[in-house]
Formats: sequence, C-alpha cells, structure tokens
Amino acid sequence: MSLSGLTTELQSILGEAHITEQDCRVRIRPGSTSELALCLAALNETGTKVTVLGGGTGLVGGTSADNSAVILSTERLTELSAVDKERRVVTAGAGVTLQHLQNLAQDSDMRMGLDLGARGSCTIGGNVSTNAGGINVIRYGMIRRDIRGLEVVLANGTVLSDLGGLEKNNAGYDLKQLFIGSEGTLGVVAAVTIALHPAPHGQCLLLLGFDAFAPMYAAAQRFLSRFPGRISALEVMWRAYYDACSRGLAITAPIGAAEVYLIVQVDLDDFDKGPVEAFASTLDDVVDGCIAQSARQEENIWAIRDGSEVIERAHPIVHSYDVSLRPQSLAIYVDEITTAIRRNFTDTQIYFFGHLGDGNIHVMIGLDDASAIAKSRLDEAVYGPLTNLTPSSISAEHGIGIEKAPHLWRSRSDNEIATMNTVRRALDPKSILNPHIIYAPRSAWLTPI
Ligand SMILES: Cc1cc2nc3c(=O)[nH]c(=O)nc-3n(C[C@H](O)[C@H](O)[C@H](O)COP(=O)(O)OP(=O)(O)OC[C@H]3O[C@@H](n4cnc5c(N)ncnc54)[C@H](O)[C@@H]3O)c2cc1C
Repeated sequence: MSLSGLTTELQSILGEAHITEQDCRVRIRPGSTSELALCLAALNETGTKVTVLGGGTGLVGGTSADNSAVILSTERLTELSAVDKERRVVTAGAGVTLQHLQNLAQDSDMRMGLDLGARGSCTIGGNVSTNAGGINVIRYGMIRRDIRGLEVVLANGTVLSDLGGLEKNNAGYDLKQLFIGSEGTLGVVAAVTIALHPAPHGQCLLLLGFDAFAPMYAAAQRFLSRFPGRISALEVMWRAYYDACSRGLAITAPIGAAEVYLIVQVDLDDFDKGPVEAFASTLDDVVDGCIAQSARQEENIWAIRDGSEVIERAHPIVHSYDVSLRPQSLAIYVDEITTAIRRNFTDTQIYFFGHLGDGNIHVMIGLDDASAIAKSRLDEAVYGPLTNLTPSSISAEHGIGIEKAPHLWRSRSDNEIATMNTVRRALDPKSILNPHIIYAPRSAWLTPI
C-alpha cells in the first residue's frame, strides 16, 4: 500500500473527521477497538511509525516523536460499563480520564486505588501503559495490582481481549501483565477492567513538621504500626519544596517552618478523628503540625504537595528525576546528592518531595543560568549514588520514555534489556509502536544510537 493509499484507507476506516493534519503531523482518533485494529493493520502494512497518545501528562517524553510518526490518540475510546457493585469492577475505554473513573467509583460508594496529581487529564490507558503509582500506593499498590482485564491491539491489528475480570485465571500466560508498564511499545491498550475498593467512611489528614529526616521517619513508622492497613498516603516534602510551593500558590503555610514535612492520611471506619488526634499528641519531636479540620484545609495541603508546576515555572530550566530506593536509605541519598550538587554546581536549587511509604522521591533541580551545566553531569550526580544504595531504580513510576533511556542500564542488566527487546520484536516485528522509546544496554549509548 502506498502512503496516499494509507491515508485513503485510514479515512475509510475512521471517516474524514477523525484523521487530521496539524504542523505536518497526522493524527488519527479511532472510536472503537475494531477501528483501532483496522488502523494498526494498515499502518503496520506500510511500516508507518505510530506514537500512542493518551492524556499527554507523562513526564519522560514518551509521547514526543518525530513528524514521520502518526499520532494515535485514544481520546475517543471512552466507552464505559456500569460499575459492577457486587464484584467491585468497572470496564472503561482507554481514553477515559482517571478523574472520571474516580467520580464514578465515588457515586457507587467506592474508590479507585489510583490517585495522582494529573488525574483530570491522564487516561486510564496511559495509567496502565506507565504502570502508574501516585499517592495511594502504600495502601493499594501500583495500578498493576488492580488490573483485572485488558483489551489490547497488537501492532499488526490482532486483538487480545480479556476483559472478564476473573480473580483467578492460571490458564497459561497472564498476557495482560506484559502490557502494563510497557509504554505503548508492545501494543495499544483499548480498554481496561479495573478493581474498585470500598470507600472509607472517614479520613483524617495530618501535616507534621520535623527538624530532620530521622524523627520524621520514626513518626511515619509509628503511624504504620498503630493504624495497620489504614494509611492511604504517607508523603514527604523537604523544606525548599514546601516553601516554594506554598509561596508560589499563595497558600498561607498551614504550619510553621520545619526541615522535613510528613503528610499522613488515615482511613477511618467513621467520622471520629479522635483516635488519630490522641495518637498524634503522643509523637515526639514534632516541630509543628496540624490535623485538617475542613475540606479547604485538606485541599491546601494537597495543593502544596502537588505543586511541582510552581517549581517548573520558577527557573529557566528544571530537570526532574523520579528515583526509588529503600525508604530507610532516603536520608543518606538526599544528603549525598545535595552535597554533590552544592559543591559542583552554582546557580542551582534542589527540591525533594515524594512518596515516603514507597521509597520513591522526586528530585527537581532548577538552573538559573541555563547555559552553565550539561544535563549529563547532573544525571550522574543524581543517579551515581544509587549504585551504592541497592536495591534502587532510576525510574520509580514515570517509565523510560526518551528522557531516561540513556540510563536504563543503571537499573536493568544487559540480559534483562535483551529479553525486553526479544519480546518487543516478537510482538512488533516492524517496530512501528513508539519506536522512539529505545531500550538499549549501556554499550549502545557509548556510540551514538
Ligand atoms: C502534575 C503531575 C503529577 C503526576 N504524578 C504522578 C504520580 O504521582 N505517579 C505517576 O505514576 N505518574 C505521575 N504523573 C505522570 C503521568 O500523569 C502518568 O505517567 C500517567 O499515567 C500518564 O497518563 P497519560 O494518559 O497522560 O499518558 P500519556 O502521557 O499520553 O502517555 C504516557 C505513555 O504511555 C503511552 N500510552 C498512552 N496511552 C496508551 C494506550 N492506550 N496504549 C498504549 N500506550 C499508551 C504513551 O505512548 C506514552 O509512552 C504526573 C504527571 C503530572 C503532570
């Protein structure tokens, strides 16, 4: 099939309204799994590259590609089943936003296990493809744990449909696991069956300040022991991040100055916050703290925690990292890279925040003199110390995309990377799906790819 033949073919599958061209980039918007399958079969036949686009909120450049790739948007894959209240599952098209699903769950007195700052724009298909984490992982795990079924279309248009949502199915390989976290390199997620959870009757949100990591970590451990299985968020912010976000958002800081801030969310059987208040009053070493008494106060605390866009705007250039290691190693790691950055780089500001309970912190480095520092030197400063703090990962929850690709070797062995590529070649022999996302060993980066 020629390229003009391809366009005609895509138009006949989708109708003219759903294939558009803007800034030299062709964008297609299939409205059903069968349309998606027909489009991929046609694209595969001509070996045309495809960039899969969900909500576009990914943080590693997974949806940026060259102009020769067709953008395949999932925005019209929005079919929804009714919530199955007995089995606590719902089936949604890949293009449904996370927030829409959260609202649907709430209307049925349930909740999604996944929550993250980009909830209003990110899609469930994108969440699956990045194996999204977020603020409730400590209670519900990454999204993988809640996926009960997937419908996926392979590069050649083959449909793999397993949306039944069975709790148990050991009949051969559980193929859906392959696609979770595969960043659109193995297939396009068309629909998802996802587990919901009973909503707690009440919640208690605390913000506590400490003058160092050690007492903060000790307090977090005490919360986990006192309220087992009830902690739904355990988040941490270091001072520079907390100050910049509260100032940038013009939120009166809910508590006084501290070096490290801990957010704890406890799920309750009822609306009585008394047991949490009583427990909090027994904690030592709290510099200042508050228990949110209104929805407004809760919103303010979460706005500060989710305020990373303030940092993005505060410097001409900002580099962001998302690393994971054992929670007890976080203090050493933060000290080590803070010292290295301050010693070696001027005109930089470093910010730390993240998911304490999962040992996942985000590091943002703001550069005021944009020309001064090669990113590779900063990468080395941030990733280098992870080598001595194993187990650790250069990507806790954001994936590899374009940005982290040169560092994949730091977290995966050559054998693992070779096996990833074997699977990829088997499912997408013409390499049409997100070919800009490269999984390559260290040796490949020593010579330009
Ligand atoms: C303010 C903010 C806060 C965030 N917080 C978190 C957080 O706490 N935890 C976290 O994990 N992430 C977080 N993220 C990152 C981002 O929201 C997640 O990675 C999210 O899962 C991406 O969903 P999306 O629909 O926007 O995907 P996109 O950005 O559109 O795509 C992401 C990747 O998945 C692929 N893809 C998308 N849809 C499909 C599909 N249907 N089939 C196959 N491949 C597909 C794309 O090609 C790309 O490689 C945050 C982002 C922002 C902006």
